[in-house]
Amino acid sequence: MFLDDLTQQFGVSGFEEPIRAFITEFCQSHADEIIKDNIGNLIVIKKGTGKSNRKKIMLSAHMDEIGFAVTDVTEKGFLKVRYMGGISNQVSVCQRIQFRSGTIGVILGGKDKKDDRDFTQLSVDIGATSKEEALAHVQIGEPASYCGEFTPLCGRTVCSKAIDDRIGCYILMRVLAEMETKPYHDTYFVFSVQEELGLRGAKVAVSTCNPDIGVAVDITGSFDTPGAPNGFTKLGSGAAIKVMDGSVVCDDRLVTFLCDYAKANDIPHQREVLARGGTDAGAIHLFNNGVSSCGVSIPTRYGHSPVGTVDMFDVEKHASKLLME
Ligand SMILES: [Zn+2]
Repeated sequence: MFLDDLTQQFGVSGFEEPIRAFITEFCQSHADEIIKDNIGNLIVIKKGTGKSNRKKIMLSAHMDEIGFAVTDVTEKGFLKVRYMGGISNQVSVCQRIQFRSGTIGVILGGKDKKDDRDFTQLSVDIGATSKEEALAHVQIGEPASYCGEFTPLCGRTVCSKAIDDRIGCYILMRVLAEMETKPYHDTYFVFSVQEELGLRGAKVAVSTCNPDIGVAVDITGSFDTPGAPNGFTKLGSGAAIKVMDGSVVCDDRLVTFLCDYAKANDIPHQREVLARGGTDAGAIHLFNNGVSSCGVSIPTRYGHSPVGTVDMFDVEKHASKLLME
């Protein structure tokens, strides 16, 4: 299963080159055209065969992952960092992170429970004993991601770093590779950059694609663990059809179409409402005069962590079936 390799590629927001190279290599033999735009989005185009009413459909999954970047180094060789995306101090403390240079560090600090998002409390120990030694291994601005091996758990469940949103990339790659015939509509498979910093890549990619319909393929919450807040979606009940999140209210007609299609074809699915957080659809639907947009999401436990957990049942059978149509 190449999901294993896909999750382990480096791709902190703005530094996506390794993951982009990996996805490009895979897509090459399946694409009619591949564009890399100036901000780094990878756009893989499959031309449609439709004669009348042929539309442009943009499927977007972000290839960047959350992480850290070095802001300063102390005299004793500890690194200070900022977040790249939505990081929690509590989740991060005592975790290993890997810098793009390969250097590994351990996170300490961040004990203030009142402000879980104050990155100034964090330090990173790379084992250096002086500023000079540390700077020989990492430079200012050096990006790092969590370490988190791809690990099968019980049943169909797997966990890894960067499940957000390599699981979406995986689904797009599978759909692209498994399309037996050419699609009716022109289909743009977008692997976007810098989503975790505010949907930045999608804002640019949408103008390249100029789509009639936008679909974000991303993770969503899973509200089925002890102490979880209220929420409907859960692991193992099928792919989620987004109704709304913090960035978009999906086009009601598309939501209804997807739900009806899933019902008619016996595809397990669940309706998704996410109170906070956004997806690429948040950027796509605001383009130009507006773009009809929706989302297909994979319920995920511990999303922004080294151990994002999904049920492959939701991924394999159902998400891809919904997108094939
Ligand atoms: Zn995401």
